[in-house]
This record gives sequence, structure tokens and C-alpha cells, in this order.
Amino acid sequence: MAEIPSESPQQVQVEEPRPDFFNMSFDMVTVKLDSGLEVPIYTDLLTYHSRYFKNMFRGGFLEASSRKTSLAHTSDNTFRAFLNWMQTGVVIQEKDQEADDAAQYRGNLVALGILADTIDCRRLRNDVVTAAVLSYAKHSKNPCASFLKKAIDNLPESSGLLLFLLHRAAVKRSFCSSNKNDVSYEKLPPKYLIRLWKIAKLRLDWITNDPMAALPWAENLCQYHEHETDDEKAACRNPLPLEHRKR
Ligand SMILES: [Zn+2]
Repeated sequence: MAEIPSESPQQVQVEEPRPDFFNMSFDMVTVKLDSGLEVPIYTDLLTYHSRYFKNMFRGGFLEASSRKTSLAHTSDNTFRAFLNWMQTGVVIQEKDQEADDAAQYRGNLVALGILADTIDCRRLRNDVVTAAVLSYAKHSKNPCASFLKKAIDNLPESSGLLLFLLHRAAVKRSFCSSNKNDVSYEKLPPKYLIRLWKIAKLRLDWITNDPMAALPWAENLCQYHEHETDDEKAACRNPLPLEHRKR
């Protein structure tokens, strides 16, 4: 997480109206990416979704007067996916990728989840983990070690996306990578290997007791989400379709 002071809890609880072109200003700021690409964005839209940018552009920082900032370690494609989500409310779709590119899609989701954490964008974090749950279930895949390592290296321990990837990885029958280009699970930090082992043991105990029972985490999508209000959580509590509740 970038080093910008966070808001007080009282401020966080206030639900602002979602900006639209009837109520927002046309003031713009510019975000420069590693590639040199400079992206002009409506300030109201950006600061509504990102607490990081809100603190930067609404606070007493230099950027608030210069209206410009840079964002490191973010590819053009990942930032475009964020802009597209802000504009449409839709996270990148798997159908937008080539059919045999599902793994690349999930890698893009991890990168977008890391950006959502860096710029402190709670709603995007929720949408990314939902998309990841659906994609891994649809293909009956487990995270490759390189995606897991990227998540471990860049996300906080409290991250819902990281928790989901650990849950999903612990279902693997073997931790030997089938892809010679992938990093090995043995390269993961020991404390995460221990977490994987504990989750795998929980699963084994569970299915030993009742082989037909769903896993303790399989039907609870909201455990990976951050909901600020009970109303929002209630609105989200749509169970996953049956075909997605696979082990
Ligand atoms: Zn939820």
C-alpha cells in the first residue's frame, strides 16, 4: 500500500453519492504510468472510487495543486482495466480474452487486484475476487505458484483475493508444478506453505467426515469481500450457481 495517510473511520463510513455527469465537476487530474502514458481522468470519479487518490488530490499534498501524479509498477493494460471498470462497473471479462488464454486472464485479475489494493479501491477488490472465484471454478483450475507468489509479495495478509488463492491452491493434489516455466511451490515463503498445509488438512478432515459435503468455504463468497454496510452485504449474498461450487 502506498504511503498516504488513511482517512479517519468517521470519514470512511460516509457514503458519498456515486458521481454521474449531472452531479460531478469536469475537473481532471493526470496519472502518469511507468510506460510514460499520461491518462487524464475526472477527479470526482477517481476520488470516489480510490481512497488513495482521494487523500492525494483532496488533501494537502503537492499533487492537489499540481493535479498530476505518477503510478509505479502498473502496466498500461492493468490501468486500462481499472478505468474501464470505473466507467462501466464491469471488471475485465474472460470472454474478452482468447479461449486458450484463461490462465493469462487469471494473471490479469491478480494484477488488477494488486492495483485495487495499491490505490485502495474497495469495490474493485470485491469485484476482482468475485471474477477470480468464477474463473477458477469454471475451469476447475488451481492457482499456479507464480500467481500465488505475486499475490503473497504484493497483497496484505488480510486480502480477500490472497485468501481465496490460498483456499484454491490447497485443493491441489500435488504441489509439483506441471509447467516448467512456473515457479515451484517450494519457493513460497514458509509461513504461507504452513497456511496451505493447514487449509489442506482442514479440507481433508471435512471430506473424511462427509465426502458429499461442500467445503466450509465453498459457498461463502462474501468471506472474500469487504462490505461496509449490512445492506451492501445482503445485496451481495447471491449464492454462486451450483456449477461453481466445485472443490
Ligand atoms: Zn459479498
